[in-house]
Amino acid sequence: MMRLLTKLSVLALSVSFFSGVARAQNGIDWPRYQDMAVELMQQYLRVNTSNPPGNEIEAARFFKKIFDEHGIENEIFEYKPGRANIIARIRGNGSKRPIILLSHTDVVTAEPASWEVDPFAATIKNGFIYGRGALDMKGEGLLHLMTMILLKREGPSLSRDVIFLGTADEEVNDEGSLWMIANKADLFKNAEYLLTEGGDNLLEGDAVKIVGVDVAEKAPFWLRVTATGLPGHGSRPVRDSATNRLIRAMGRILDWETPVRLSPAVEQFFKDVAPLQSEPLRSQFANIRESLKNPSFVQSLTSQREYNFLLRNTISITMLSGSKQTNVIPNAATCNLDVRLLPGESPDEFLKALKAVIADPSIKIENVNRFKPPNSSPIDTELFSLIARKTKENHPGAIVTTKMLSGYTESQLYRQLGITAYGWAPIYTTPDQDEGVHGNNERIAVDNVRKGTREFYEVVKDISR
Ligand SMILES: [Zn+2]
Repeated sequence: MMRLLTKLSVLALSVSFFSGVARAQNGIDWPRYQDMAVELMQQYLRVNTSNPPGNEIEAARFFKKIFDEHGIENEIFEYKPGRANIIARIRGNGSKRPIILLSHTDVVTAEPASWEVDPFAATIKNGFIYGRGALDMKGEGLLHLMTMILLKREGPSLSRDVIFLGTADEEVNDEGSLWMIANKADLFKNAEYLLTEGGDNLLEGDAVKIVGVDVAEKAPFWLRVTATGLPGHGSRPVRDSATNRLIRAMGRILDWETPVRLSPAVEQFFKDVAPLQSEPLRSQFANIRESLKNPSFVQSLTSQREYNFLLRNTISITMLSGSKQTNVIPNAATCNLDVRLLPGESPDEFLKALKAVIADPSIKIENVNRFKPPNSSPIDTELFSLIARKTKENHPGAIVTTKMLSGYTESQLYRQLGITAYGWAPIYTTPDQDEGVHGNNERIAVDNVRKGTREFYEVVKDISR
């Protein structure tokens, strides 16, 4: 969807961005907090938590110092040298279950030579703060931090605890969250809600057009397929050699059209974005369940990469290996499959279906990643409605919709505890800025840090009333 529409500069947002403000005066000195947000954003981006090696203890100490200054209870867990998580809490009266604000504090590495500025200097240039992690996801972590400070200092009465959770190592092995869940889950497992990364927003012209709340993600189920057979000299072909068997198997995998399944989140997404399409797509999206009964519509929709993954389990053949020498027929050949399962799918069922497709019992298939079950969060919640309502107040004309990501987020881990987890933050980017995520010149608009501080706080405050 992102690429179908034109995105323009985030700076052009200023008119619609804050239209709900004037009538919502409640005495908060916003300019002061917004100055603080920009200053702390810069400080946080200067903490180098490139992973590897991570060194997230420095991020944890950065947060601890601020929490201590503001009298916010907090604790660091250094689960191995230099690797640490931090949790902080503002207490409510306990009549509602907590909300968790989750961010990972590590960032991917940066190649300074390819950047316009030092990736860890937090330089402000042309209205943007540059830094590795500005979008993934120190910008969101900063909004979480500002919300904690605001809740503490402004002291609205809260029905639930608001928990800040900063975790290490999301970008590599996800050890930080796995460790917290294995060892300290008592501190947060009774939460009702969690907000983290994964939201996906679209600007068109000077208006926020779509705000995507991530409610589900595909789950990686990586497989290695191994064929074996008689080895020999390449000059005397073996009809059922390992390589030949593997190639036949791969051909069947490629030809396999995995079944189309429409999940509630994806159905909602198509309905929500229907008004942005022209006919006949508009009607087809609006009635997506019905439309998918038409094979030629399925064919045309799934031929588009941005829609295909929403509707089915997908398979990409990625790694291949056979002989190391041209004249040697190997006794084994392998390929790896990057399989991504829809929420609710069973890996065992998928394997069974795949084996039937390959139809060669001599071929071995094994799972080669740590599989985390795909799951999703309900859409009909107070938090989802609140995000939708506040977003429309701040951005009249915006469509708030559900997103299912092709990639993984930590929401999957926390949903297993019974927590409703969404990817959402009021951070709005152009495709050009999105390139900075895991790329070069990652940056966040100063204006977005300032206004996002207020937007995020108001949602967390209102859901915790
Ligand atoms: Zn991230």
